[in-house]
Amino acid sequence: MTVSEVRRAAPGAQEEQHFDAAIVGAGFAGMYMLHRLRNAGFRVRVFETGDGVGGTWYWNRYPGARCDVESMEYSYGFSEELQQEWEWTERYSGQPEILRYANHVADRFDLRRDIAFNTRVTSARFDEEAKRWRIETDKGDVVSAQFCIMATGCLSSANLPDFPGRDSFAGDTYHTGRWPHEPVDFTGKRVGIIGTGSSAIQAIPVIAAQAKHLTVFQRTPNYSIPARNEPLDPNRVAEIKADYAGLRERNYRMPAGFGSMMPSNDGTALEDDAEVRRSNYEERWERGGFTFLGAYADLLSNREANETAAGFVRERIREIVGDPKTAELLSPDNVIGCKRPCLDTNYFETYNRDNVTLVNVRDNPVERITPKGVVTDGQEYELDSLIFATGFDAMTGALLNIDVRGRGGQTLDDKWSAGPRTYLGLSTVGFPNMFMISGPGSPSVLTNMITSIEQHVVWIHDCLEYLREKRLATIEATPPAEDDWVDHVNAVADLTLYPTCNSWYLGKNIPGKPQVFMPLIGFPPYVEKCDAVAAGGYEGFELDSAP
Ligand code: FAD
Ligand code: NAP
Repeated sequence: MTVSEVRRAAPGAQEEQHFDAAIVGAGFAGMYMLHRLRNAGFRVRVFETGDGVGGTWYWNRYPGARCDVESMEYSYGFSEELQQEWEWTERYSGQPEILRYANHVADRFDLRRDIAFNTRVTSARFDEEAKRWRIETDKGDVVSAQFCIMATGCLSSANLPDFPGRDSFAGDTYHTGRWPHEPVDFTGKRVGIIGTGSSAIQAIPVIAAQAKHLTVFQRTPNYSIPARNEPLDPNRVAEIKADYAGLRERNYRMPAGFGSMMPSNDGTALEDDAEVRRSNYEERWERGGFTFLGAYADLLSNREANETAAGFVRERIREIVGDPKTAELLSPDNVIGCKRPCLDTNYFETYNRDNVTLVNVRDNPVERITPKGVVTDGQEYELDSLIFATGFDAMTGALLNIDVRGRGGQTLDDKWSAGPRTYLGLSTVGFPNMFMISGPGSPSVLTNMITSIEQHVVWIHDCLEYLREKRLATIEATPPAEDDWVDHVNAVADLTLYPTCNSWYLGKNIPGKPQVFMPLIGFPPYVEKCDAVAAGGYEGFELDSAP
């Protein structure tokens, strides 16, 4: 499509390579984007900080890490051969198996030869004259590409809060999202963990079973639903594989891009009498997984309805946890589902163990970290190992870690100083030819993310083919389209209870981050909109012909 030969710059300077597309990140998004564009004849280079593929599943190796969307659904659907040949062993596969899957995909589609591993993209600048992106890495690469595709991940920039004395701790420290590649043995150790989000809720039962003692520092209690993980029944797998495409298609029409195996109830919670409601919740609680929140259609729009589900979960916590004070401390008082719900295996049960202590850091925050441990409420908890399960600078963190500059040298950081602004979550005004996979303003984290990733990859691929065919040099969202889209994302969120929590969806977990509800709620209408935009010749975008 464009000049793509390697050209040598001035003597002594780095060799500058030319590509049609540079992709940042080799998780599920970057891998599929590479496959798709390369097959269409584009010259592509992927850059990845890690030394392997898999993204999330490469970095998050903490004990107990597994998916929360069932494996038969949380996997690529783009290749019938791939989905037929791969054998998942569990309903929710563990991190090692998901990482093996990512590696299998990389091998099967020969992806590695176009990925530069151990290479972090440090800057991406749009050259207005050349109408190309100039990308630099920490390895000194300088690359020019017509398109810059950010596949940097929504949950890939670890959040390590700035606790006073944080680095003075004398024992071992870990972050769940940057877990060592070698096995970590907590046998005989006094372990502390800060945080009780999805990562901690998966890790706590496994670590408690190994450590001498586990102290959990909890700021906000979380709702958690039993995952009811189990080995996959081969008959069930065969049944799904007999019509895998059918399952993918049915899931595509679901609000979150998955879950058609146990559809949501269309009714509203308050229509049913208390007994019917309870048996509905009980059935879904016993089945396990996110389907619990599909018990009624209005759980995330009507606070009274929501409270019936929240109350049901609090009752279960009180039933499971022996000590009433601990049960009380573990019981959330916010809306259920406005933070991503957690799925667990024996999470609440773990607090019945003698070697587990729950410490409330909501009223008395972590004061400081000392060489010996963690201090809160004037008390020092002595530890050998300390785990930060403190989450991520979600959705924008990884993008803003790169020095991205668009037209007029404007930085993305500046452009998004009051929160991310995008058109379709794919593109942002002032940054032509830059695409984001599962960017803010798209359904992304509110869906089965592999489904959302596939939808974005196909859309971007089709768009690049269109531009090539029409000999167009740039595509850029227009300001009115972006303004309308931002308003739309906010208006949809405001119809729900999502904005009522201190969630990372709103950026509330990061001090100083602008508080904006970042994902768009509702996958099917979003897909429809993206399809209509493309069918209409990329409505809401300005297309510019080659010079
Ligand atoms: P990632 O997998 O995050 O990959 C992004 C990659 O970009 C990373 O490898 C990173 O190193 C690289 N990168 C970032 N910046 C740079 C840079 N400047 N230069 C070079 N490389 C860079 N979603 C679900 O739908 N279901 C689940 O069950 C589920 N479970 C999850 C469990 C955990 C523990 C976590 C943290 C997330 C989970 N998610 C889940 C969300 C998950 O992130 C997505 O499903 C999916 O894996 C994202 O893929 P990705 O390629 O978009 O991003
Ligand atoms: P998270 O949900 O953001 O949880 C972080 C935890 O750390 C919260 O309990 C938070 O408390 C606490 N915390 C943060 N800063 C703190 C501070 N200064 N003092 C005390 N506590 C602090 O992060 P996560 O658990 O890593 O999960 C992030 C997302 O990744 C999930 O929502 C999910 O989308 C995905 N994920 C999925 C799975 C899965 O089941 N497949 C597993 C892990 C992660 P507050 O709540 O008070 O902020």
